[in-house]
Amino acid sequence: MTQSIINNDQTALVVCAHCGAESADPHLCSECERVQPVPSATDYFSFLGLPRKLMIDEAELERTFYRLSRRLHPDYFMNASTAERQASIDRSSMLNDAYRTLRDPISRTQYLLSLEGYKEAEKKAPPDLLEEVFDLNMQIEELKAAKKMGDAGVVAAERRALGDALDRLNAKLKEIGQQLFALFELWDRSSEPGSDQKERKRALDRISELLSHRSYIRNLARDIKEEI
Ligand SMILES: [Zn+2]
Repeated sequence: MTQSIINNDQTALVVCAHCGAESADPHLCSECERVQPVPSATDYFSFLGLPRKLMIDEAELERTFYRLSRRLHPDYFMNASTAERQASIDRSSMLNDAYRTLRDPISRTQYLLSLEGYKEAEKKAPPDLLEEVFDLNMQIEELKAAKKMGDAGVVAAERRALGDALDRLNAKLKEIGQQLFALFELWDRSSEPGSDQKERKRALDRISELLSHRSYIRNLARDIKEEI
């Protein structure tokens, strides 16, 4: 690892780009207080000093965001050197992106999957809903046609049926949410050193699959809501 030394409690010490002192704070040198350039391999988790985990304390994340925003704001570095001013712009911009991405559990999960080498999964219907999904798409088409023909009886019946289906889809989304939550805990537990790497990989595979089911169902629910 260049430019950093791991000390006993696993905190990386950063060598200041300006004065050469070792600093525990990766953002500003604890010796000369100058803003440090962002190393190229920095991801949002490491930028914020967080382990690559899915369950995070969102209130703590918000506090960290505001604290760092105040310290790194480019307005404070108007009279600094070009390099330091650029570093404050880069750090502030990365801070905003990191906060926006990590504060939401789903975008946090998608980001972690991308870091772990997963491509964004295609939207896919859950296997246990395949038949129902097929029927629902037919019903949406039937409702559209009945609206065009002005067939009030069919419109009312399809609306009712699709309304019931929407309730079932929302229930399914809730179930997927609970499954994801359990898998987040499993991933976090299996991120500890010495844990089962196969289990870790399985957790992410399953999370990726559930996210693709989730976005499929959300799209379908949106289509139904628009039509009824
Ligand atoms: Zn320094």
